[in-house]
Amino acid sequence: MTALYERDKATIATLQKLRFFPLAVAGGRGARVVEDDGRELIDLSGAWGAASLGYGHPAWVEAISRAAASPAGASVLSAANRPATGLAEKLLAAFPGSGDNKVWFGHSGSDANEAVFRAVTRATGRTGVIAFVGAYHGCTVGSMAFSGHSVQAGATKAEGLLLLPYPDPYRPYRDDPTGGAILDELRRRLEAAPDHFAAAFIEPIQSDGGLIVPPAGFFRAFAQICREFGVLVVCDEVKVGLGRSGRLHCFEHEDFTPDILTIGKGLGGGLPLSAAIGPSRILDCASAFAMQTLHGNPICASAGLAVLETIEREELIQAAESKGQRLRDGLQKLAARHSLIGDIRGRGLACGVELVTDSQCRSPASRATAKLVYRAYELGLVLYYVGMNSNVLEMTPPLTITDQDIDAALDILDETFDDVITGRVSDESLADFTGW
Ligand code: PMP
Repeated sequence: MTALYERDKATIATLQKLRFFPLAVAGGRGARVVEDDGRELIDLSGAWGAASLGYGHPAWVEAISRAAASPAGASVLSAANRPATGLAEKLLAAFPGSGDNKVWFGHSGSDANEAVFRAVTRATGRTGVIAFVGAYHGCTVGSMAFSGHSVQAGATKAEGLLLLPYPDPYRPYRDDPTGGAILDELRRRLEAAPDHFAAAFIEPIQSDGGLIVPPAGFFRAFAQICREFGVLVVCDEVKVGLGRSGRLHCFEHEDFTPDILTIGKGLGGGLPLSAAIGPSRILDCASAFAMQTLHGNPICASAGLAVLETIEREELIQAAESKGQRLRDGLQKLAARHSLIGDIRGRGLACGVELVTDSQCRSPASRATAKLVYRAYELGLVLYYVGMNSNVLEMTPPLTITDQDIDAALDILDETFDDVITGRVSDESLADFTGW
């Protein structure tokens, strides 16, 4: 434990910590973070996907430095500002659909999803929403109310919430790997209450629920059923949007367009910035209804513009596709040597590795997963786990990660698996790191 970690432990509230090992970051460059004692680690998490351009990208640094030198106010609440307007224009131009859309800006995935939840219920007069078991849409009271993740088991849920099973090809609901049984359930519930549901919140890859890639065609069919009943489809791409999946929007893989899109994390490239894009009739339904003092902050919006421009200029969407393939190819080689690896999945640079104690019965290897990320940290690699069973390694590195860093990360992982299997990580070392 470094000196900085000790100070953090003494001063910063546990309420907002999700710790897996004693990482203390003093700086960063590219896909690497540096601890306060000078040790460098490869960040295969990319700060949970927020560090979309890596750390200290020159275009991002230049944009926020320029914006900070002569700040255009502090938000869009009571004044227009150029960076926020420019970013809204860019996001609208990149969003397919009718064209009668608007943008709402926030600080986090949580506030974006909560604002949408409040807007859809108010604008439509319908009170119910649909979401999925395992979904993590945020950690505010409003966004927790329609999330289905086990980490929020005690949270109060929205009245009339319908949580459907997420289609998981590795653990199929009612033995149907196409998700057809879930679609039947959706139709049945909508027929029973045709005017009840305002919206369905979906994740085109279920992220914190286990980096689950849905079966082909599922969300296209899901959206069609929703439309029959006038239910808006809200696509939460807070973690997997903006190029990470190998497409600008992850829903493009699913061959449908949602009514509303929420994005965050990588949009600010490490600064607090989120957005919702959707029809004016929803996002203009009231004024002073979903706002915070610093929403639409010009420095954060400038960061967002730099992120989008850099993704275009450096062709990072294509890079996400090819680098993700390289990462998964390497993981497949590891799977041949390490029986803990049960499933490797993902799109682009959103990869998941599900660990099981026995590939036949697929029992979650939760304890081994916690030990694995801990040992990886000791060996110089940052990655965390997700999933309702806490047994899925999540890899969402910066889109700018180099091939060399991917290969080095795979080498470290290889050694890590050996060390965990041979018992080099004690139970005591995990005592302070409950993860989730
Ligand atoms: N939606 C998704 C899909 C997420 O993965 C997350 C965070 N993991 C959120 C929403 C919430 O975002 P934030 O933590 O920025 O509020």
